[in-house]
Amino acid sequence: MSDISVLGIFVADISFSGPKIPSIGETILGNEYNIGPGGKGCNQAIAIARLGGKVNFISKIGKDNYGKLALDTLKKNNIDTENIIQDKNLQTGVAGILVEKNSGKNAINVIVGAPSTLKTSEIDNQLKAIKNSKIFLTQLEVPKKVILHCLKVAKDNRCITILNPAPASKISKEFFNNIDYFTPNENEAEFYTGIKITNEKDAKHAADKLINTGIKKVIITLGEKGLFYSDGNEEIYLKANSVKAIDTTGAGDAFNGGFAFGLSIKKPIRECLSFANKVAGISTTKLGAGDAMPFFKEI
Ligand code: ADP
Repeated sequence: MSDISVLGIFVADISFSGPKIPSIGETILGNEYNIGPGGKGCNQAIAIARLGGKVNFISKIGKDNYGKLALDTLKKNNIDTENIIQDKNLQTGVAGILVEKNSGKNAINVIVGAPSTLKTSEIDNQLKAIKNSKIFLTQLEVPKKVILHCLKVAKDNRCITILNPAPASKISKEFFNNIDYFTPNENEAEFYTGIKITNEKDAKHAADKLINTGIKKVIITLGEKGLFYSDGNEEIYLKANSVKAIDTTGAGDAFNGGFAFGLSIKKPIRECLSFANKVAGISTTKLGAGDAMPFFKEI
C-alpha cells in the first residue's frame, strides 16, 4: 500500500527553449528541445517517489507511444502503476511548452487526452487505494466530478487532502469543505480571490479570504519570491532559495510533491514548507518538468 495517492494526468511535455516566447504570428530560432514526462499529477508523483515516498498514481492514458513513455517513466521512478487505466481508443496527453531561456519563464498548451474521459464509475480500485493512503494529492486537470468524489472518499477515510487548484478553474463550495491544504500559485490565488498578489501583504489578504470559504490551510506559492502559508492563526512567509533558475516548468509540482512527502513523514508544518521550497527551487535549475524533479540526496 502507498502512503500517498496522487490523482492527475500524465502528458508528454514537448518543450522548446529559445531567446524569447514568440508572439502570435512570429517565428524564432530556438536553442534546444526536449520530450519528457509532464502533467501536474505525474510530476508530483515523480517528485514524491524521488524523495523516497511510497506513491500510487491514479490516471488514464492511451495505448500509444506516449502511453508507453508514461508507464516506462512511472516504473523507472518506482511509482505504483496499478491504478493507471489504459484505453486503446484514446490518446495519451501532450503539452507544447515554450520556454524563455534566460528567465526560465514559460507558456504552455496542454491537450489532456485520455484522462479527460475519466468517470467515477470506472475508479472502484482507485478509490480503494485512496482509502488506504495517508495523503491524497490532486489538481484540476481531470474531470471535476471525479476529483470531488475522490476528495470526499479521502476525507471520509481520514486522509489528509491537498488540492493544488491548477489550472485555475471554478470549483463549488463542496470542494472547499473537503480540502485540508489548498496550494495555488499567485495567479491562481488571484483567480479564486480577485486579489492581485504583488507582496506578502496581498498574499495574507488572499489567504484570509480563502480561509473564510471553509478551506482549512492555504499555501500560496510566490514563484521566485517564495511562499506564504496561513491556517487562520499561524502565518509563515518563506523566501525562495537563491538558485540559478533555467526552467520554472513544474516548480509548483515539485513544491506540492515535496510538501506531501514532508507531511507523510510527519514533519512539522514549517519544516514541510521549507523542505518543499528547497525541492521546488532545485527543480528550476533543470530543464523539463518530470525529469527536473530532484532526488532526496540533492536536497
Ligand atoms: P507554479 O510552478 O505553479 O507557477 P510557482 O511559480 O509559484 O508555482 O513556484 C512554486 C515554488 O517553486 C515557489 O514557491 C518556490 O519555492 C519555487 N520557485 C519558483 N521559481 C523559483 C526561482 N526562480 N528561484 C527559486 N525558487 C523558485
